[in-house]
Amino acid sequence: MKTSNENIVLTGDRPTGKLHLGHFVGSIQNRIALQNQYDQCFYMVADIQALTDNADNPEKVRNNAFEVVLDNLAVGLDPEKTTCFIQSQISEIAELTVLFLNLVTLARLRRNPTVKDEMKQKGFGENVPAGFLVYPVSQAADILFCNSNIIPVGEDQLPVIEQANEIVVKFNSIYGETFRKIQPMISATPRLIGIDGNAKMGKSLGNAIYLDDPKEDVEKKVMMMYTDPKHIHKSDPGNVKGNVVFTYLDIFDPNKDEVKTLKKQYEAGGLGDVEIKKRLVGVLEEVISPIRDRRRELAKKPKLIEEILFEGTKKTRQVAKETMGKVRRQIKIDYFG
Ligand code: ATP
Ligand code: MG
Repeated sequence: MKTSNENIVLTGDRPTGKLHLGHFVGSIQNRIALQNQYDQCFYMVADIQALTDNADNPEKVRNNAFEVVLDNLAVGLDPEKTTCFIQSQISEIAELTVLFLNLVTLARLRRNPTVKDEMKQKGFGENVPAGFLVYPVSQAADILFCNSNIIPVGEDQLPVIEQANEIVVKFNSIYGETFRKIQPMISATPRLIGIDGNAKMGKSLGNAIYLDDPKEDVEKKVMMMYTDPKHIHKSDPGNVKGNVVFTYLDIFDPNKDEVKTLKKQYEAGGLGDVEIKKRLVGVLEEVISPIRDRRRELAKKPKLIEEILFEGTKKTRQVAKETMGKVRRQIKIDYFG
């Protein structure tokens, strides 16, 4: 049932690699639920944002643009319900970014916790590309050019949404009421840890299980997972807290009661790491195998993917034109009508 004509949903991925289980639980599942609740949903391939830290690798961004769409379609994104478009093909987003840049300070951007974390991760230091530092501004433009107000994201993106809302407030206070406040939507698992126990599974971090990983790779990755270093012999009592395998079982295993029993057994001693890892492989296979199969079928139809993006981008351009017309009037740069 459609519940509202007013709310507009926007989501997206950076085409920097194939999507993984973190995306699945952190954002894609939410996207798919929302497309059945709201009349207007947009999905964006954030290629311009991907270039902010991959300017020297355009092939990577280009190749992954189709991959991320494939991943989303394989999980269940429906192009009839969600308009799919490519960020770089909507020049109004760039125009809006330039205008928004005047409404933020460099100091505020440097304080953004997401930007700070990612800069550290990427080892940028003082040599951060200016485009990367200001990506939250460009993300505000992504959201506002199509008047979207509901944004399903992982936890790592919350400070970016907060900054976008500051831009909304500032814009409206200077130029008059134009944009509405944005609401981030967090999933039940807003941040999936990496297979290495790192705080976040990330496609640029080399610690991910991908949605199209063959079963052998899933097996290999699960076997590499960190459990409890003190749990050496099967009979040793083990720790389930901070144990990556149990963290994943909590999220993905549909049989919560059995997981509870296994945890007790593990804590008491007598349950081996290999046993719980084998269970996890089975559980993850249940999630991944239908996605992998659908993805393989869709990958045979590159023309279809191109058409979805072409049509979606065409439709999105209309919306962008309307918003920019209004913005130009508000800022009084509508010289020729
Ligand atoms: P990159 O390392 O290139 O930034 P990424 O893995 O962070 O890639 P993005 O394309 O930046 O992926 O993020 C797409 C969406 O998926 C965002 O809403 C983000 O919050 C969410 N997301 C990414 N990783 C996770 C994760 N491990 N757990 C939950 N949500 C995640
Ligand atoms: Mg990211």
